[in-house]
Amino acid sequence: QQQAVAILVPGQFNDHAVGRLDRTFSRVWIERPDASLVTDEMRRTVRGIAAFGGINAALIDALPNLEIIANFGVGYDSVDARHAAQRGVMVTNTPDVLTEEVADTAIGLLINTVRELPRAETWLRDGSWARDGNYRLSRLTLRGRRVGIFGMGRIGVAIARRLEAFGLPIAYHNRRQVEGLSYEYHGTLKGLAEAVDTLISVAPGGASTEKAVNTGILSALGPNGVFVNIGRGSTVDEAALAAALAGGTIAAAGLDVFADEPNVPPALLAAPNTSLLPHVGSASEHTRRAMADLCVDNLISWFSQGRALTPVPETEKVKARS
Ligand code: NDP
Repeated sequence: QQQAVAILVPGQFNDHAVGRLDRTFSRVWIERPDASLVTDEMRRTVRGIAAFGGINAALIDALPNLEIIANFGVGYDSVDARHAAQRGVMVTNTPDVLTEEVADTAIGLLINTVRELPRAETWLRDGSWARDGNYRLSRLTLRGRRVGIFGMGRIGVAIARRLEAFGLPIAYHNRRQVEGLSYEYHGTLKGLAEAVDTLISVAPGGASTEKAVNTGILSALGPNGVFVNIGRGSTVDEAALAAALAGGTIAAAGLDVFADEPNVPPALLAAPNTSLLPHVGSASEHTRRAMADLCVDNLISWFSQGRALTPVPETEKVKARS
């Protein structure tokens, strides 16, 4: 019976996930998640979606038999989960299996930003070392820094644990204080930025965090300030960040995520005090395979047991139809 279930995969998808989908379901492909590409046959048959985000209300409405959207990734801000819940459609994500990998990446990005390691490597590779002598001393250091984490969830805690081993004091801001966590809590992001000189954002995207890191927050961080973003680009006012970097409001920034990926604002590319990565937080073969397995396991569990393994909070109460 499972063989007959049609799963829509919009756009490029992880190879391991595609292999597993093809062994269990009937996979239907469209070029991108766009309701106008849905055919009459898809309208009749598709009961699930497996996707890297980008599922809006129009696409959900274009598929009347849709039961579940399995998002590949823990962040699901580009899936309209509220609309899915209203339509009785389950949404799942891939928490936990990527937490340690993303925390590792955050630490690498922080060190790259502060100690200029990518630029130092370029100095070696382009012959400057042999020609012009030693790479300059880095202006910044991790020593003596105070770190603030914006979004102390699964990944935020994993970053904090690593930074504890670095001997750095840690504070955080969430909407709610986390029980049982001894790090200093700030009820506002501004309060956190005033208390630290190094801000790591690992908060989710969405309306509640849109452009939360703005001129006021960057000014509060101060001229020795370092900002690292491993969460979502939408949480930052990128024009304000570029201005803060150019004007010395803060010292440097390390960014893995951008508001309009894969487009990176030219001002951030041109700035001498940025370290930039192409959204590789979880991007190892090992971790992407684990994410693929959890994504597909959610679909298999839904269609064979009638329950999802990792529902997002908005759709926790959605029940299987059959
Ligand atoms: P969690 O849900 O465990 O943590 C998110 C934290 O953010 C929670 O503690 C939450 O606390 C806090 N938060 C949410 N909204 C707000 C708000 N408006 N103001 C202040 N704090 C807020 O998620 P994960 O740690 O698993 O993942 C976090 C994010 O990291 C993902 O949503 C994703 O966007 C990003 N990510 C990026 C990756 C990359 O490749 N760069 C890879 C994986 C994830 P509270 O609800 O109390 O406010």
